[in-house]
Amino acid sequence: MPYPDSMIQLIEEFAKMPGVGRRTAERFAMYILSAPAESVDNLSELVRKVHQNIHACQECFNLSEETICHICGDPTRNHTLLCVVQTPKDVIAIEKSGDYAGIYHVLMGALSPLEGVGPKDLRIKELLDRVKKGTFKEVVLGTSSDTEGDATSTYLMKQLKPLKVKVTRIAHGVPVGSALEFVDKATLTRAFRHRQEI
Ligand SMILES: [Zn+2]
Repeated sequence: MPYPDSMIQLIEEFAKMPGVGRRTAERFAMYILSAPAESVDNLSELVRKVHQNIHACQECFNLSEETICHICGDPTRNHTLLCVVQTPKDVIAIEKSGDYAGIYHVLMGALSPLEGVGPKDLRIKELLDRVKKGTFKEVVLGTSSDTEGDATSTYLMKQLKPLKVKVTRIAHGVPVGSALEFVDKATLTRAFRHRQEI
C-alpha cells in the first residue's frame, strides 16, 4: 500500500537532505508519525526559527542570529589576527580548541575546479576588502590540508601578498585530507602554534 500523499511529500523533503537516502528518509517520516506531539511541534518551530533567524554575519560570514556575530562583536578578542576558514563548522572546531583569540573569515567553501567552484563563488572579495582596511597584523590560512584546501590557500596567498600583510598557514599535524572539524583539539592547538609564514 502506498503512503498517504503528505507522508510521501515529507519523505521526499527528508531525502533532499545531505547524506539522507530514501530509506533513512522513510525512517525519519515514520519517527515523526510516532513521536509525541510536543516533540514534533518543537521540531517544526525550530526548523522555521533557524531558517528565518540565522544568517551570515556581515563581517565574517559565520552563522549568527545578529547582524554581527558574537565573535566579531567581542571587544576582548584580538581584532588584528584573522583566521580564514572554509565553513562555520571550522569556526566551531577552532573555538572548541579554546586556544585562538583572533577573529575569523568564513569563505563558505573551497576552490574546486572539478565541482565548478571558482573564486567568485567564495567570500574572497570580501576577505580582500577586509584586509585592505589595514587593521590586521596577521592572516592565518586555516583551510583544510586536502587538495581543495591547499588550492584555496595557494590562491589566497597570491592575492594577499601584495597587501603587505603577514600570511601564515596552519599545517603541522593536521592529517592530509581531513576537514578541520574532524581534527582533535590537541592537534588543532598544535597546528595553530606551529603555523608557518608563507
Ligand atoms: Zn562575525
